This record gives sequence, C-alpha cells and structure tokens, in this order.
Amino acid sequence: MKTAYISLGSNVGDREEQIAAAMQALGARGVRIVRQSSIYSTEPVDVATQSWFLNCVLEVETDLMPRQLLRTFQEIENELGRKHTVRRGPRVIDLDILLYGSSVIRTAELEVPHPRMSQRRFVLVPLAEIAPALRHPVENKSVEELLAETEDRSVVHRCKSGAVGESGR
Ligand code: AMP
Repeated sequence: MKTAYISLGSNVGDREEQIAAAMQALGARGVRIVRQSSIYSTEPVDVATQSWFLNCVLEVETDLMPRQLLRTFQEIENELGRKHTVRRGPRVIDLDILLYGSSVIRTAELEVPHPRMSQRRFVLVPLAEIAPALRHPVENKSVEELLAETEDRSVVHRCKSGAVGESGR
C-alpha cells in the first residue's frame, strides 16, 4: 500500500455533486480515502475568464502504481463526462496526482510531484489543512513552507468541511 495525495477540482455543473461522485468512484476502484480536506471555492488561475472552481485534496492509500492511478483518474474523468475542449479550461471534474509516496516520476505522460503544485494556492491551502508537515521530495520543503513561499495570490476560500478529515478518522 502506498500513500498518495490527490487533487480534485470542478467548475461546471453541480460541482459539489461531481466531486462527491469522483470520490465514490475512487473508492470503487481500490483507492481508499484516508483524509479529506474541506472543500474550497477557488479563483481560476490559468484561464481567468472561466467560472470559479470547487477544489479539495485527499490523502489516499492504494495498491495501484502511479500509471495505473493516472489511468483510473482518466476513466473517472471520462465517466463523469469531462469534455476536452479548452486546455486548462472548464471541466466537470479534474483529478491530479500531487504526490505518490516520495516517488519522483518525470515521463511524458506523468510527472510526480505535480510540476505546478507549488505555484497553486488551490492545491497548497487544502493540502496544508490535512498534511502541513508533509515534505515535497524534490524541493525538500514542507507543504506549510511551500504555502508561505508561493507567489500565487489567487483567492481560495474554505466553504465546506471535509467529512473524513473532520471526524478525525
Ligand atoms: P489536464 O488536462 O491539465 O488535467 O492534464 C491532463 C494530462 O496531464 C494527462 O494527459 C496526464 O498524462 C498529464 N499529467 C502529467 N502529470 C500528471 C499528474 N501528476 N496528475 C495528473 N495528470 C498528469
């Protein structure tokens, strides 16, 4: 079993429902959710004219290898009807691998740690809620330090408590 951290985001349709559906689909595919951040309302950073997102971060345990986990995400994204129209544009659901144990993977299809996680408050704020002391294996800094140092100034509001994280397991 490996521990991984994953990011979920949605900015089209019933965003909360789609995040819930993705979490259920992960569970059905052998990805056990250990901790769940609150849900955050976040300002779009890459394509500024689109709608705001809901984002959250999960700590999970899985036997799936990174590439299998990525394929699982793609299946879930397709199942929930994501349309590949604008790159980094509107999406029903977006699933990213942030960290996979302390693995460092740099291939054409998969980069772990996620190459933009340190520049995204919508990732760092929820991740700092559930794992502030977690260390980035390349930058060798904690999530709390990455959040304090990031140059991203985009707005991230906590709007709903995470069920698993709040219950204290
Ligand atoms: P996007 O449309 O921005 O969600 O990008 C999806 C693409 O990013 C997929 O084709 C993946 O192969 C690639 N990718 C690279 N690294 C990661 C990662 N850590 N998590 C998820 N997707 C990744």
